[in-house]
Amino acid sequence: MKEIILAKYGEIALKGLNKSQFEALLVKNVKRRLGDLGYFKITRAQSIIFIEPENENCDMDEVINRVKKTFGFAVLCRCGVLEKSYDDIKTRGLDYLCDTLSYAKTFKVEAKRSDKKFPMNSPQICTELGHDILERFPHLTVNVRNPDVVVTVEIRETNAYIHAGVIQGAGGMPVGSSGEALLLLSGGIDSPVAGYMMAKRGIHINAIHYVSPPYTSDRARIKVERLCSKISAYCGDIRFFCVPFTEIQEKIKDNCPEELFTVIMRRIMMKIAQKIAVRENLSALILGESVGQVASQTMGAIVCTDAVANMPVFRPVIGMDKAEIVEIARKIDTFDISIEPYEDCCTVFTPKHPKTSPVLSEVEKAESMFDFEPLIEKAVAETEVKLFKAEF
Ligand code: ATP
Ligand code: MG
Repeated sequence: MKEIILAKYGEIALKGLNKSQFEALLVKNVKRRLGDLGYFKITRAQSIIFIEPENENCDMDEVINRVKKTFGFAVLCRCGVLEKSYDDIKTRGLDYLCDTLSYAKTFKVEAKRSDKKFPMNSPQICTELGHDILERFPHLTVNVRNPDVVVTVEIRETNAYIHAGVIQGAGGMPVGSSGEALLLLSGGIDSPVAGYMMAKRGIHINAIHYVSPPYTSDRARIKVERLCSKISAYCGDIRFFCVPFTEIQEKIKDNCPEELFTVIMRRIMMKIAQKIAVRENLSALILGESVGQVASQTMGAIVCTDAVANMPVFRPVIGMDKAEIVEIARKIDTFDISIEPYEDCCTVFTPKHPKTSPVLSEVEKAESMFDFEPLIEKAVAETEVKLFKAEF
């Protein structure tokens, strides 16, 4: 049977005059994501985007998988497409749901009739179809409070649709509706989650990663690239900037007090990220820091790093516990990659006793012992760029 996906938006539905801009972007994002799966007719009406494959052999499981990871949709319904007649709903509609109903024990029927010209109203559809289901699947019983299956019939403008329950969407706002930012992406658990969270708010993510060969290996960089691909399922295409950081780290080690190594390194990371962000027209930085998690993430340390910031710095996981961050990392499937044991440049030369509450004036003084500016410019100039196309 011909199938269609009704993808219903969440927050966009509440938008006012600019709602259609958000809708247009959402349609564009969906089209781009489904491009290699065939041709789709995509239309919108009443806060719903109708995604209809032209080819009946289209891989609908994969379509659902991709639309499920598209920010902007609250719920999805994978429906059988029917004639607008009760007869068709009862016969072909129940054929379509035959497997689901055979395996269930309890059900209820819900009906939505947006075409008021349809001769039966919603309660009538529910009652009739309830009877017909019980007749055809006598093992079933009705349970209106907690059914195994909710059979839903929607009578809309051109067709009737039937489905056996809604699928949770990714929520959030369409990627690209809130501008572009640069995510400082490490190989850890937190920063991929931070990128996912900001993409959910509609920000198009670019990623920057610092490497220190030979102290950090190729495998460590490849791990981060794999994380980038993983989050691209949600974030869309990601430009990945890889910064050579060895020389800077060596110079910090040789010229600055050991206990301030980490905070100075972070400040320089921020400066490099900002230069690239400005060059590429990106409006903010994103970090995966959570207050108190480690020495470099105390209030004092954050005050010192943010003192070099001249653009907004977003830290979406700042108030989250590790367990909460891990839960999201598992959901977006980055966790298993993140825990692979490769070294990050942040773990190179880390002091035994980093200062947990560095004082800004002290840090600035220590940093001024060496002129890092030429090395920063050099690192920016030598930064490599790669494009990661969205993978699902
Ligand atoms: P994560 O789990 O994201 O690695 P973390 O708890 O290990 O975080 P830190 O190592 O202190 O914390 O790093 C804090 C933040 O700095 C990271 O979340 C990330 O945004 C950024 N960061 C750290 N190392 C790198 C790196 N090599 N390249 C790019 N960004 C980095
Ligand atoms: Mg880390």
